[in-house]
Amino acid sequence: MKKETAELPTNMGGLAAPNLKNFWDSLKLAWLSRLFQTNDAATWKRLAMSRLSFALRLPKLTLTRLLTEGPTSIAKASAAISNPFWQSLWKLLPKLEKTFYNKYPKATGERIVWDNDDFLCEGQPFSRRSNSRILTLNFNFIHEFVSPKTKVLMSEEEATALLGVRLIPIWNKLVESITAHLTSKNLTWYSIDKPATGPIHWGWSRLVTECHKARKFYPLLMTRPGDPIRNSNERAWTFSGLTHYNATRWDQLYQNQSNLRCSLRVKWEEYRVLWGRQELNRYRSRYANQGGDMSTACSYCREEIETEIHLYVECDISREFWQAARSWYTRNIGVSPPIVLTGPLLFGLEKEQPQDLCNIFYRSARYCIFKNRKKTFTPSLRYFIALVKDELRLKYRANRILKFANKPEEAKAVAWLRAQMGWLATDLNWPKKS
Ligand SMILES: [Zn+2]
Repeated sequence: MKKETAELPTNMGGLAAPNLKNFWDSLKLAWLSRLFQTNDAATWKRLAMSRLSFALRLPKLTLTRLLTEGPTSIAKASAAISNPFWQSLWKLLPKLEKTFYNKYPKATGERIVWDNDDFLCEGQPFSRRSNSRILTLNFNFIHEFVSPKTKVLMSEEEATALLGVRLIPIWNKLVESITAHLTSKNLTWYSIDKPATGPIHWGWSRLVTECHKARKFYPLLMTRPGDPIRNSNERAWTFSGLTHYNATRWDQLYQNQSNLRCSLRVKWEEYRVLWGRQELNRYRSRYANQGGDMSTACSYCREEIETEIHLYVECDISREFWQAARSWYTRNIGVSPPIVLTGPLLFGLEKEQPQDLCNIFYRSARYCIFKNRKKTFTPSLRYFIALVKDELRLKYRANRILKFANKPEEAKAVAWLRAQMGWLATDLNWPKKS
């Protein structure tokens, strides 16, 4: 396994192996919480605060004041700090703040709108320094944009009463940027109210108090928001020709994989196909010769290297089988899944539920191809039919069949299964023909 894959959290298919750099960073970040908890008289704390005060050009900097300062301005100022430990720590603040509040979207109201990468104006964070003090004092936190009267975003009149007319254009830009951010997180202005219970937080105080242990910082650092390619497996699939899969499609596939309810041996192989980790012959080149068949060639055609793409998409013998299986499926189940595109043959249709009839087809055919390759010269249609029957029994088990009985697109599949199982329509309160 590659290092990057191993480091992914288990719910994304990794082993959650530690990343040493982030591990050390998270140990450092525990000092952030210590800074806030230690007695003000402690020498190290006075030193750290006076360095930061100088760097930020904020005389008599207090912790309360520090918490109201935007993360990017602190990170930028830290370049002027000579102590490499604190410098590297403050540089991590923007990333940390962003990841932390992405995990707690309900606390968005506490965030600072100034000098924050999540709130941009023409690609740059709004700068506190270059804006009027009356604006930055009245509107520092997101929740301050909420009207105390209406509990949603205040009207321009209310804002004008606080700021005067001159600052309204920039106020509107702030509102626009916050609204865009809220929308991207599936939030609305209704979500931004002060929490009714619990301690009151502001700025990044929640981050500091809730992450007082290094092990809490570590998962935050391991979350990489917005990476276009999130793991080496997606990259490998891209290189092998699946260039049209983006983050959304991959996420839908992972989602489907985790929602998949079917025989566990099939589910496990489905997982391995998605991660390009099936025990196919191509791996034999990596093993020491232990006698027996060491060929990396396709088990069916013996002509090409047995990779996932060859086995499920390109192999002539598999192709013949896909067609035979599809004809059978059309006749008996009443659905004709397309077999031209590479993606569905490898992973099924990510936009459909795992129990969708097309997905049952793709999954059963894949498992049949995989399982039969050591036993027969071509994948066995009988084996495929048995797999389809298992899947449909699970899908229509107990009274779930009633849910599908009225759907015309499922009628044929339901009838086929009933005939196979010897179930009578009357046993199921079958809807009468009118
Ligand atoms: Zn082949």
